[in-house]
Amino acid sequence: MSSESSANSYVWPEWLPLRKDLKGQSPYGAPQLPLEVKLNTNENPFSLSPDLVAKLSESIANSAKDFNRYPDRDAIELRTELAKYLNSTTGVNLGVDQIWAANGSNEIIQTLFLAFAGAGVNSLGFTPSYSMHENIARSTGTNWIVADRLSDFNIDISSALTQISKQKPKLVFITTPNNPTGTSTKISDIRKVIEATAQVGGLAIIDEAYAEFSEEPSNIELLNDYLNLVVIRTMSKAFSFAGVRVGYLAAAKEVVDALQLVRLPYHLSTPTQLLAKVALEFQGELLAEVEQLKIERNKVVGELSALGLTVVPSSANFLLFSVENEKQVWQELVNVGVLVRDVGIAGHLRVTIGTPSENELFLAALREILRASKGEK
Ligand SMILES: *Cc1c(COP(=O)(O)O)cnc(C)c1O
Repeated sequence: MSSESSANSYVWPEWLPLRKDLKGQSPYGAPQLPLEVKLNTNENPFSLSPDLVAKLSESIANSAKDFNRYPDRDAIELRTELAKYLNSTTGVNLGVDQIWAANGSNEIIQTLFLAFAGAGVNSLGFTPSYSMHENIARSTGTNWIVADRLSDFNIDISSALTQISKQKPKLVFITTPNNPTGTSTKISDIRKVIEATAQVGGLAIIDEAYAEFSEEPSNIELLNDYLNLVVIRTMSKAFSFAGVRVGYLAAAKEVVDALQLVRLPYHLSTPTQLLAKVALEFQGELLAEVEQLKIERNKVVGELSALGLTVVPSSANFLLFSVENEKQVWQELVNVGVLVRDVGIAGHLRVTIGTPSENELFLAALREILRASKGEK
């Protein structure tokens, strides 16, 4: 087992009419290893409470007899509840027609590309960031322009604005807090990017998958000021719901209307819609866990620093830290049952904040590995 960033050496057979532009590519592939301590995909580590589990089961039991029917194609009840959640946690007053939901924010991203990009169109993002933005650009035939971040992983705003006006991307992606670095982009900088993107007729897409873990105000508030802004959220992280697949966006009504032209009919199943509504009813309980994870995050920062490692400041539920020989350290952690992420940034690994006991196991394992490697020198 090696870490994940190996290039695809697969040779496709002649008879397979695979698109030429896909031939050299590899699928998204965070390893799914059956290890004891899984800290590699930024999930919420707490399993669902017995009360929540009972309500989820009840909602399925009460509706299963109607599974012969297609679901509500527009997911109106779910979108109404999502609007209420955003309105109550940020300073906006969004209507249901400004929210759209799909099977994970990955489907949201794909639908945005289908509606607003494609062959001959430019899109742009600031790397290192979430690799699916670029993967979906490629799978929809869209040009992807890489704009680099500074060495502290912040966005170089003046160079960003120049690139936007030169390349005229129709979609510009900013992930904040950013994955895999954990860093946040200032709202004043985001405003500049949105304005520059408007000038070239594009949409600014702010991926806020980790917003609930951050102390910064949400960019949702900027929807009061801009038409060309789309904010993406997910229930996969803060809401402990990665297995159900629910993502959503907030934007101008016209953006949502445009997405209807390319979405698959009945894309969001009846069980998915029901389960997500139940999870939203439990938001008090789930967001309390988020607060606990923030406290754990700060503890793990302290412990990693005490080991002499540099930790990138994080507003998310994971930490990017510096370590020598990251590929070897990754493997040695795997050998003792701890899975973290090699995100392909030299000299760094990313660890998701787990339960207190998982964090202890990770830190103890890492301490031992670093001690042994010092002994060898
Ligand atoms: C985890 C993550 C997502 C979530 O994707 P889902 O399809 O909703 O599970 C989206 N964006 C970023 C930046 C992420 O890290």
